[in-house]
Amino acid sequence: MKVLKFGGTSVGSPSSIKEVANIVRNIEGKKTVVLSAMSGTTNALHEVADYIINYKEEEANQLIDDLIAKYVDVAHELLNEKENQEAAIALISDRFEYIREHVGIEIPSSQIEKNIVAQGEVLSTNLFIFHLKEEGAKATLVSAFDFMAIDEANEPVISKITEAYGEIVAANTNTEIFVTQGYICLSHRGKIDNLKRGGSDYSASLIGAAIKAEEIQIWTDIDGMHNNDPRFVENTFSLKELSFDEAAELAYFGAKILHPQSVIPARKANVPVMLKNTFEPNAAGTIIKNCDVPAGVRAIAAKDGITAIKIKSYRMLMAYGFLKGVFQVFENYKTSIDMITTSEVAVSLTIDDTTHLNEIVKELEEIGSVEVDTDLSIICLAGNFTEESKGASSPIFNSLTNIPIRMISYGGSNYNVSLVINTENKKEALVALNKGVFGR
Ligand code: ASP
Ligand code: MG
Repeated sequence: MKVLKFGGTSVGSPSSIKEVANIVRNIEGKKTVVLSAMSGTTNALHEVADYIINYKEEEANQLIDDLIAKYVDVAHELLNEKENQEAAIALISDRFEYIREHVGIEIPSSQIEKNIVAQGEVLSTNLFIFHLKEEGAKATLVSAFDFMAIDEANEPVISKITEAYGEIVAANTNTEIFVTQGYICLSHRGKIDNLKRGGSDYSASLIGAAIKAEEIQIWTDIDGMHNNDPRFVENTFSLKELSFDEAAELAYFGAKILHPQSVIPARKANVPVMLKNTFEPNAAGTIIKNCDVPAGVRAIAAKDGITAIKIKSYRMLMAYGFLKGVFQVFENYKTSIDMITTSEVAVSLTIDDTTHLNEIVKELEEIGSVEVDTDLSIICLAGNFTEESKGASSPIFNSLTNIPIRMISYGGSNYNVSLVINTENKKEALVALNKGVFGR
């Protein structure tokens, strides 16, 4: 079995949904197709939820009406037979009626938002199944709520996913194409939940790992992972191959093509992940697998919205327990640290979640003096920085002689060098690195 995931733009219009069906049909063997919501839908549903939470009922109803009209058009354009169109429209009405039940609710809660945004994937998968069936495919729709589960800590419950999805596959021997929703799941309380924005990749990786798939394919709107961020740099190129370690670093530190956590299950189960372009299905794409990593830098990504915190204390390293005290503060506020650098008198670290920044700073001030810098970006350079790559860092720093660097992290893993700079210098830094490191 192969697991094929198609993102929001891949299912963004009736014609692209048909294209997706063609791609799926041309891939041999059994497959599980994981779909995102049609592009724009998750954002729109978040907007509906926001209106409801802020008691803006008229706006909520208006947006729901607009979405219904849009989906009815999609059903007409996507499906040929009247009977199927009617069945699809009934499903659309039913899902939006469910959404509308939340409008005007007495005490809106965060559960409302989860219930509402989940409908995007329910709609896209149902429409896709209608189309596949009209084309005569042996396809089965599997509800993600029947197998995708997270625990109290929002971590996927691998045993449940493996067992439940395995049973579903075993019970449907005649099915060629299983179709399911990405992103959505049930919480430990059995309520509708999700794997966070962009989480459909993660769903695909979890399913692929659970069933030990031959391959996980992530179909999106770009021809694989590029050596640098194509939104800011010209002359980037798509990479043929990446190791799991490199891909994990790049996805975590800003490469938009992959959800940061999605490499983890695939790597654990050693299932290769192929990145492909729905709109250029014959382009090679990028394969992520266990492979040797050539010396030097292979790819660059950048992550914005970074805050750096410096804690200064005299005799920091000599005084044992200092770092423990610092880390404990972040643990108290469930705030994860991205990057760390230390000296004898100070430690600097970065976070991207500033929800509890004020409380964190207050507690840290009991340990030492604290400085906070905002509007920073992490530049992540992934590649091979082991001994055999000596000299690999000199083009990095030679490229950046005009750019102030706030932090440098080297040696945390063999596969990553990270720098922190001001976001206003990011584009210049990425362009300079493309020239200095890749000669482009
Ligand atoms: N539809 C969800 C989102 O837009 C999940 C996904 O596309 O992966 O975040
Ligand atoms: Mg999406």
